[in-house]
Amino acid sequence: MNKKYRKTIIAGNWKMNLLPSEVKPFADELRALLPKTKSCEVALLVPFTHISTLRRSLKDNRISYGAQDVSVHDKGAFTGEVSAEMLADLNAHYVTVGHSECRQYHGDNDFIVGQKALAVLEKGMSPIICVGESLEQRDRSLTMEYISYQVLAALSFIPEGKERQIVIAYEPIWAIGTGKTATPQEAQDVCEGIRSVIREKRGARVARSVSILYGGSMNPKNAKELLSMPDIDGGLIGGASLKPQDFAQIISAVTEVTGEE
Ligand code: PEP
Repeated sequence: MNKKYRKTIIAGNWKMNLLPSEVKPFADELRALLPKTKSCEVALLVPFTHISTLRRSLKDNRISYGAQDVSVHDKGAFTGEVSAEMLADLNAHYVTVGHSECRQYHGDNDFIVGQKALAVLEKGMSPIICVGESLEQRDRSLTMEYISYQVLAALSFIPEGKERQIVIAYEPIWAIGTGKTATPQEAQDVCEGIRSVIREKRGARVARSVSILYGGSMNPKNAKELLSMPDIDGGLIGGASLKPQDFAQIISAVTEVTGEE
């Protein structure tokens, strides 16, 4: 499968870490460390409270930014929620939907995840749709069955012709924040499976154009091997995105893989 038809994306998911006052120093340091690359889009997904500061601190468009969640509603009496239109108004580019922590702690199910993905798309941004199996599902050899179900459920909300705007992140739950990583081959097999599901539903041209990321304890040591896999088009990175040095090294791994260095 040829990667030239899709973007490579390295996206940092800060979760609920760092303070607004730490955003500018982080952005300055990362910008200084960032390797020159045409083959990789870099994004930071930060808490809502950090977006405006990040936007100002990034100065140019070498780094995209976005949010980690969004409301399914457009506007109105939804205390505490943030709409897709609000994020689009800040020029956000990406929004993760269905992160396993949102599925676990906020009760986001596949229906809500699909609605959120559509809300993001409708405002011209790209949803990063997260899917992933639990340890129990993996131990019972149910990984691909479960992931296919999640991908199909999300796809059913994506209008035809809009698929190129979505990103899928395969994040095995047992690998998130645990230091355990899927082996490159395990991650490749699932990402390839996800592409097959897209191919069956929306055709080969669409399938080859959708970026599929791996997430789950990716770090500067294991990034190159994971990113070398034919169906892994980048990473969604939690812990290692909180240190500019580590994050920049992961971006450098892309340039090593693509031979830009
Ligand atoms: C994540 O939060 O999406 C993630 C992959 O976290 P970590 O890299 O820390 O496992």
